[in-house]
Amino acid sequence: MEIKKFTVFGGGVLGSQVSWQAALHGVKTTVYDISDEAIEACKTKHQAYAQMFTKDFGIPEEQVKRAFDFLSYTTDLEQAVADADLTSESIPEDFEIKKEFYQKLSTLLPEKTILTTNSSTLLPSMLAPFTGRPEKFLALHFANPVWAANIGEVMGHKDTDPQVFDTVVEFARRIGLVPIPIHKEQPGYVLNTLLIPFLEAAQTLYFNGVADYKSIDKTWMISTGAKVGPFGIIDLVGMNTVYNVLMLRYKQTGNKTILERAQKIKEQFIDKGKLGVATGEGFYKYPNPEYQSPGFLK
Ligand code: NAD
Repeated sequence: MEIKKFTVFGGGVLGSQVSWQAALHGVKTTVYDISDEAIEACKTKHQAYAQMFTKDFGIPEEQVKRAFDFLSYTTDLEQAVADADLTSESIPEDFEIKKEFYQKLSTLLPEKTILTTNSSTLLPSMLAPFTGRPEKFLALHFANPVWAANIGEVMGHKDTDPQVFDTVVEFARRIGLVPIPIHKEQPGYVLNTLLIPFLEAAQTLYFNGVADYKSIDKTWMISTGAKVGPFGIIDLVGMNTVYNVLMLRYKQTGNKTILERAQKIKEQFIDKGKLGVATGEGFYKYPNPEYQSPGFLK
């Protein structure tokens, strides 16, 4: 099935990137959000991405300007999905919000529309019952930033139609992603199944006083040839997300050590405005973190 019209629900951090990425690859894309303010914020982000793509990435100005011809914005959900072939949902990571959203959406959709969620922690099978079309529902999970960390993890649930799955894999490729087909439902997909325990292990070493964070990063960088170690990655991911993941794990397991760690992240970083790369400081100071300096690995 050819995807002619694509709709993105939510124009926040990820929705603004997903819609930009699709429009830049020549896909007619509509952004839906709940208020005029949210739509304006998304437009502002798109302008900033346009600047970044021309100035920093050297993409020709005409090509970047052309992306705007493929973009439209609305706060009217019915209008947003009229004639949509494929949708991508990036609304807040909250089960009740998503459930209510899909229930409302299910009454407005054309029959052909395929639905994908970008949820990082909710499995497709948890949301499928509220979509009214479980066979056309699956996850297409993007990484942040979409264009640089350009994987598209495609994960269905047991009732997802295999043809629908393949259509989404093809679409991911078309918009410049490397599709990662996931054959079984897996909390955290591939990336976070690897990354979360890795970052937790690094935190255990640090918070238990086994080694300082620079030594831990050096160990990883020297021995694997990676350009960044776990604490550099934590700064990239951002302290709010690290905190939210720890709190979610605490709620799931009741493990007090995880709660204490979340509290330390909050006190030592979040409360001091040190959110990571986004605010110029986390474990390291930006834009020139010490781990990128020539002497760091000596
Ligand atoms: P965000 O808070 O930046 O954006 C959420 C957007 O949804 C906002 O623009 C908000 O106005 C809008 N919204 C709020 N309620 C809504 C509703 N009822 N209906 C429609 N829109 C509504 O959040 P985000 O970081 O972009 O995350 C969104 C989704 O993307 C989550 O499911 C998250 O797990 C997933 N995700 C996030 C990242 C990341 O790095 N931030 C990476 C991959 C996936």
